[in-house]
Amino acid sequence: MTATRFHTPATLDEALGLLDEHGDDARLFAGGTAMVTLMKQSLLAADHLVSLQRVPGLEGVRLEADGLHIGALTRHRDVETSDLVRVYAPLLAHVYSRVATVRIRNAATVGGGLAHADPAQDPPAALIALDARVRIASRRSVRELPVEELFVDYYETALAPGEAITELIVPRQPADAGAVYLKFLPRTEDDYATVAVAALARIVDGRAHGVRVALIAAGPTPVRATVVERALEGAPITAEAVRRAAEAVVDAVDPLDDFRGSAGYKRDMAVVFTRRALERALGLSPA
Ligand SMILES: Cc1cc2nc3c(=O)[nH]c(=O)nc-3n(C[C@H](O)[C@H](O)[C@H](O)COP(=O)(O)OP(=O)(O)OC[C@H]3O[C@@H](n4cnc5c(N)ncnc54)[C@H](O)[C@@H]3O)c2cc1C
Repeated sequence: MTATRFHTPATLDEALGLLDEHGDDARLFAGGTAMVTLMKQSLLAADHLVSLQRVPGLEGVRLEADGLHIGALTRHRDVETSDLVRVYAPLLAHVYSRVATVRIRNAATVGGGLAHADPAQDPPAALIALDARVRIASRRSVRELPVEELFVDYYETALAPGEAITELIVPRQPADAGAVYLKFLPRTEDDYATVAVAALARIVDGRAHGVRVALIAAGPTPVRATVVERALEGAPITAEAVRRAAEAVVDAVDPLDDFRGSAGYKRDMAVVFTRRALERALGLSPA
């Protein structure tokens, strides 16, 4: 057995170079909350860990014309408590505050969370509802991808070998939109969700507009429920219209059986929580 080597590159270029040099034998290491757990359980082994901790320029939140730019190394806790995020994307601040415990949020990074791609992780629901993008760099190119397209399967992303997430770009949340994140936690407050829903919608002349609905823990990847969005877009705001639209979510989800519930139970809860989230976003029930 080879001992794992822990690299601490001082620049992004150096980090990306190490990924190229060591190929499948290398893994990026950010907050380490997922990596250490997987390595301890012998579910993951890597000869080379490439830490991003000393790479400058990957941390922090700034506001630009196209929205909030959040560095990949920014901690969950710093997103949750950022004044910029609270003002321009309050839904996101709330969703990051719902991840695990404060100890985990103090270590876990935005980029590591997205690359880990556990479909039960909270942030992608809000990021998809807000139409966020990730910036991805390799030694050869820089590209952007909607968060919606980042996840390709259970714990699998569209990142190619040699690529790292460097930044998250989140458009400003429309100031007149109702925005809600409901996380169904039948066990403990700091658990992963049995199912969770982010919903965003505006009311224009008594009708629903700009409806966005995304779920986590409802399939092998986070899910955008376009069937629900289409069913409600332009509809008059009534409890009946919301109920009918929420029922359509069964066509978007594909949950797995696990100790948080059977697939059938999670499918039923996806309908219930989609309905409740939309009712709150549209002012039909108290926030
Ligand atoms: C006890 C516990 C409870 C949890 N509960 C929740 C919860 O309720 N909700 C929730 O959403 N999440 C939860 N999580 C998951 C947690 O959010 C993730 O472990 C965390 O976000 C991973 O971030 P990290 O910086 O620690 O990543 P790391 O562990 O450092 O890395 C994770 C993966 O990402 C890769 N990686 C890291 N940075 C980058 C990058 N910039 N570009 C490309 N790849 C990268 C690594 O190679 C690795 O594959 C929980 C985790 C634990 C340990």
